[in-house]
Amino acid sequence: MSARPRREPALPDLSKYGRLAEYRAKRRFDVTPEPPPRLAGVTKTAGKASPKLEFVVQKHRAGHLHYDVRLEHAGVMLSWAVPKGPAPDPAVKRLAMQTEPHPMEYNQFEGVIPEGEYGGGTVMIWDRGTWTPESPDVTRALGKGDLKFRLDGRKLKGSWVLVRTHGRQWLLMKHRDAYASTEDLTATKPRSVVSRRTLAAIARAAGASPRQLEQAAAADLPREEGQSSTAARRARVR
Ligand code: MN
Repeated sequence: MSARPRREPALPDLSKYGRLAEYRAKRRFDVTPEPPPRLAGVTKTAGKASPKLEFVVQKHRAGHLHYDVRLEHAGVMLSWAVPKGPAPDPAVKRLAMQTEPHPMEYNQFEGVIPEGEYGGGTVMIWDRGTWTPESPDVTRALGKGDLKFRLDGRKLKGSWVLVRTHGRQWLLMKHRDAYASTEDLTATKPRSVVSRRTLAAIARAAGASPRQLEQAAAADLPREEGQSSTAARRARVR
């Protein structure tokens, strides 16, 4: 094996991006409208008696429709992709695949990721607010794979838990409290909490491709009428 020439440029040093290195590596910031990786100052909340931590849930019609649940922790947004979206019914366990931590600026992002790019498709800010850990030590709770927390959003409220089953696979569940309900919030409250727009309206305004626009419009329909319904399955068979 011959040695490489010494002048060969080294791999980019991603160390300063810390936990955002994976976020950076997956995206081309001269193509995607998503924010470039930037670590928030951890000192921003460190000194406060009761720091308000941000949370956001982004409805994302990429390869498949899912809801990205993000919780602020140590200057980044920890992220889980929940295919069916959060359910306020304590009897319902929702699969939550842990994904790469995102920059804090991502909480403002609503728009279209171009076709062929990582996560290509339309993104809506479906819910937003603050969260409070109910586990005493968040880092330790994440390590143990059992994080209890309260959400104070426009749609999601009350006590929830994320439990790791294996690897990056977790379950998101509602605890029994005054906010527990069998309401399907993804169907009854489908619009953006910042722009009141539907996914299709966001797609149209951001210049989505015809295919992305069609997928966004289908994702606006309640699940019973949408792609995973019995009617749609029957339609596909016909
Ligand atoms: Mn996503």
